[in-house]
Amino acid sequence: MAMARDAAPLLDHTRCCVVGGGPAGMVLGLLLARAGVAVTVLEKHADFLRDFRGDTVHPSTLQILDEIGLGEDFARLPQRRVEQLSAVIGGRAQPIADFRGLRPYGHVALVPQWDLLNLLAGAARRYPTFELRLRHAATALVRDGGRIAGVDIATPEGPRRLSADLVVACDGRHSTLRAAAGLVPREFGAPMDVLWFRLPRRAGDPPDAFGIVERGRMMVLLDRGDAWQAAYLVAKGGDAALRARPLQVLRADVAALAPFLADRTAAIADWDAVKTLSVQVNRLARWHLPGLLLIGDAAHAMSPIGGVGINLAIQDAVAAANALAAPLAAGGPIDEALLAAVQRRREWPVRLVQRVQIAAQQRLIARVLQAEGPAPRLPAALRWLLGFRAVRRIPARLVGYGVRPEHVRSPATEPPG
Ligand SMILES: Cc1cc2nc3c(=O)[nH]c(=O)nc-3n(C[C@H](O)[C@H](O)[C@H](O)COP(=O)(O)OP(=O)(O)OC[C@H]3O[C@@H](n4cnc5c(N)ncnc54)[C@H](O)[C@@H]3O)c2cc1C
Repeated sequence: MAMARDAAPLLDHTRCCVVGGGPAGMVLGLLLARAGVAVTVLEKHADFLRDFRGDTVHPSTLQILDEIGLGEDFARLPQRRVEQLSAVIGGRAQPIADFRGLRPYGHVALVPQWDLLNLLAGAARRYPTFELRLRHAATALVRDGGRIAGVDIATPEGPRRLSADLVVACDGRHSTLRAAAGLVPREFGAPMDVLWFRLPRRAGDPPDAFGIVERGRMMVLLDRGDAWQAAYLVAKGGDAALRARPLQVLRADVAALAPFLADRTAAIADWDAVKTLSVQVNRLARWHLPGLLLIGDAAHAMSPIGGVGINLAIQDAVAAANALAAPLAAGGPIDEALLAAVQRRREWPVRLVQRVQIAAQQRLIARVLQAEGPAPRLPAALRWLLGFRAVRRIPARLVGYGVRPEHVRSPATEPPG
């Protein structure tokens, strides 16, 4: 392999190097190891503990966990189950989606992302060909002629190089490897950013998850057991202006939107307790180069609408494993045509979901966030239709199972012992 003279010490060689231990990277790492492939997952953090990440595990992902044999272990994780979504629009309660009766799963599970990632890591570690290296940040791609042949890594012991027959970038929306590959996603824009914070939840509070929509303001509340996880929307770029004002402004707004929370807004102790998600919607035109595949947020950042980010990242990982596990296990070169097939399979569902999200952002959220706009309300015909549970199951099915749901078809070996 042609490497620069000043190359970092070689760490090792692996068949597949997965960069990023998020939902996409951990599911792919597990599925490849399960198929007997030597796989190394690099994660730049020391653990999976990160607050306010995607915590919504949809029925499509619950099905995948069943297919991997982790359904029962997942069900034992502390979680809340959301069966219905509703909204309070202009002061009027409106049921929107109803997951009850959908098969095989009639709910969305709310689980801290680190619990899901630890579960996946634990399952993957049972396979001798799996390796997870924490505090290993990929810094650059290694090229061999026209092919990607590994990554340079910052490790606690200094710079290292890992050579690999295939590198899969699962390093999220700010992907280092995407930039290193010279791939630039097309940005579709978003009219809002989201501020995340928690408030205590008390007996007698409303159940499940619901949105509150008023002229100029919008907030979504997710039932996390003893707490509400609140997503408060601000117009794009409005975060800095809001943070420059006293915290009381946010507290008062939250109390006005959800009067039942007025007695506990002091629980938002300071601005550090409020985490901003800068909403991005983007997509790469090309998800691969010879020796390199990008999936999950690295290939397509999703709007938070529908909470589909984790679930689509996991679907990408399943599709990648379905296409690549057997050829990787067989040895021999990995043809770029195989990587292109993964993009072809996943791009269509991603495009469709993004199109719906962009339409909702433009037609609904941008209008609501205009303080001078008309008071938000649903058309009477839609309100009437949503009065039927069968109709409310349609958005639930679309959000919960999506389009072209993936199923695990990669080969499975038994873990030793
Ligand atoms: C505040 C917030 C709230 C969200 N809420 C939701 C939600 O409710 N529901 C939902 O479905 N989605 C939500 N999302 C989006 C969701 O988290 C992502 O879509 C999903 O996690 C994407 O998975 P991924 O594996 O592609 O990337 P990520 O989850 O971003 O994982 C990337 C991983 O790569 C690691 N990494 C990055 N660079 C390197 C490097 N150079 N070397 C090694 N490791 C690296 C990171 O530390 C990270 O662990 C939210 C996102 C944020 C930021």
